[in-house]
Amino acid sequence: MRRISIFGATGSIGANGVDLIRRAGGPGAFHTVALTGGRNIARLARMARDLRAEVAVTAHPGLLGDLRDALAGSGVEAAAGPQALIEAARRPSDWVLSAIVGAAGLAPGLTALAQGGVLALANKESLVCAGPLLRRAAQAGGATILPVDSEHSAIFQALGQDDLESVKDVTITASGGAFRDWPLERLAAATVAEASTHPNWAMGQRITIDSASMFNKAMEVIEAKEFFGLRPDQIRVLVHPESIIHALVGHVDGGTIAHLGAPDMRHAIGFALNWPRRAPLPVAPLDLAALGSLTFRAPDEIRWPALRLAREVMTAGGMAGAVFNAAKEQALDDFIGGRIRFTAMAPRVEMTLEALSARAGFGDDPADLETVLHWDREARKEAAA
Ligand code: NAD
Ligand code: MG
Repeated sequence: MRRISIFGATGSIGANGVDLIRRAGGPGAFHTVALTGGRNIARLARMARDLRAEVAVTAHPGLLGDLRDALAGSGVEAAAGPQALIEAARRPSDWVLSAIVGAAGLAPGLTALAQGGVLALANKESLVCAGPLLRRAAQAGGATILPVDSEHSAIFQALGQDDLESVKDVTITASGGAFRDWPLERLAAATVAEASTHPNWAMGQRITIDSASMFNKAMEVIEAKEFFGLRPDQIRVLVHPESIIHALVGHVDGGTIAHLGAPDMRHAIGFALNWPRRAPLPVAPLDLAALGSLTFRAPDEIRWPALRLAREVMTAGGMAGAVFNAAKEQALDDFIGGRIRFTAMAPRVEMTLEALSARAGFGDDPADLETVLHWDREARKEAAA
């Protein structure tokens, strides 16, 4: 029986993963090793009981008692804290969904890769802050990383068997998020609630706000470089408000292959679950006649300075990705916490990049997890409001 684990099971991606496992036969068809979550103990316990997991882990040590109570009599082990997450990742699984939000997903992801199998990677932050480390861990563990971000799943599918030699460029699309059509002068007053709505996708709050600021797309540009080994100048962003085309791969012979689908993450998660085969998924069929038209715009880097920063980060290399991600996470915390304005996030990230680069340069690719975590801490300190 195929062994599966889901890190961040209680989140938006994780819950879609649990839903797909259930539809594909649940505990009769899969052996669930580990499910992890945060503060939503009731949801985590319910999922762990349903899928008859070996172990359920909350990220918060203080919630261990609550989790034990919620799992009483179920036969599911309870565990808590960052170290318990790593121990859960050490239990061999054939398929692991990495769906924790933020750099907190890096250590469990690296640990899972060392056990082999497939790592279905939604946690883009780990590729942005430590792409080379992930690739090395996959190679050493004989593991395969599959993309779960919709755009990267789309690139992966559009590439098919083509080698990169035949690829001229890759375009990832962006809906434009909550403020796509706002007058620029209104952005400074944007509230957290306004930034937490998305025109097309239902997602966790952090990535939804990152969509409004385009930090999500900036992260995805770096993710595409790290995942596929593209040059920075080969990666383009196209604003496409309908979110039907997820990515396009342009070839040297003038042909372009696009990937289309309804904006539903169960396609990308399910593709990674069924790979290398394809199987039916509960995704609405595409009705282009009903849609009538698809529209496109060039991205505006005045409205979305994060896109410019992504290019600078790729050019700088070394630890710049880890600094970029951590500064972005801190700026986002400060925006959500009401300490800074929406429009202050990008300048904060830019100042953090400048300050840390001026101090020591961005050095070489990360040697180990500890180096990444060190730069992550320094960047958060520098970026904090
Ligand atoms: P979410 O906020 O809905 O869920 C996050 C999950 O991570 C929850 O289970 C939460 O308990 C857990 N978590 C949060 N902080 C943690 C910590 N410090 N330690 C351990 N666990 C922690 O987020 P989401 O929208 O599901 O996104 C998850 C990941 O997938 C992110 O990296 C995001 O960028 C990526 N992603 C999401 C979508 C989407 O549609 N939601 C699409 C593409 C990529
Ligand atoms: Mg995406």
